[in-house]
Amino acid sequence: MDVINGLLSFYYGFIFASVISFARLFTNRCQLAFYEKSRKKIIHKWKFILSGRSRCDHCSEIIPVLYLVPVFGYLFALGKCTNCHNKISLIYFLEESMAFVYGSAYFIFARFQYLHYHISVWFMILYFFLCYFISRMDYRYFLIPTGAIVSILFLAVLELVFVIKPDHLLLISVIPLTWFCFLYLLGYAFPEKLGMADIHFIPVLCLAIHFPHSLYLPAVASFIAIIYFFLRYRHEKWKDSRHNKIPFGVFLSLAFLLLKIIP
Ligand SMILES: [Zn+2]
Repeated sequence: MDVINGLLSFYYGFIFASVISFARLFTNRCQLAFYEKSRKKIIHKWKFILSGRSRCDHCSEIIPVLYLVPVFGYLFALGKCTNCHNKISLIYFLEESMAFVYGSAYFIFARFQYLHYHISVWFMILYFFLCYFISRMDYRYFLIPTGAIVSILFLAVLELVFVIKPDHLLLISVIPLTWFCFLYLLGYAFPEKLGMADIHFIPVLCLAIHFPHSLYLPAVASFIAIIYFFLRYRHEKWKDSRHNKIPFGVFLSLAFLLLKIIP
């Protein structure tokens, strides 16, 4: 890999880390504005979500720009708020670091895989944002906002038409449609077990991931879910409500991100 592509890989890693940092703030504020008890007090919801700087979780002081730099901001601040000296959650740092590695790796992958690789990376950035948002929402409330599913559908169609330009459009669309019909029947037979959002989300992700990965996506997601539950059960017994419900959107998103980087 030459120097320019090395720098570009670093640049895209940095963009992905910035995106996850923004997605975290966006998700937290969406939860406060639409789903938590505080929603009644927030009148101008979108103004609340999209404006205003990041604040410390403990003292609510505005975080200086230097410490907002993804990955490095945490290191500069030595993992503590510079105002109240309380610890900043390590999760923030880990999320940003993983996004950085993923973004760098995805650029290298896309360069070999696609002709218009820069455009592919920008599509992936948007998918990445939406997958993070969906995962957090599904994990907390067991729901996937329809707007997020429609956004992924919109992106998938745009990418197919303008970037991928597949020869076999039928093959690309047949698998998501088959999944949709199969899941719809399954949902009809077991209405308690499968959420309507999952029935819509799986075919949309299959369309976004293209053939042949669309064949494996639900299986890979289930496999990740099984590993996760196995590890989790070893550590703690979940509350009763959690025994019946599975935030499958989280595992679907993970499987999507994983399969996107496999040739
Ligand atoms: Zn603080």
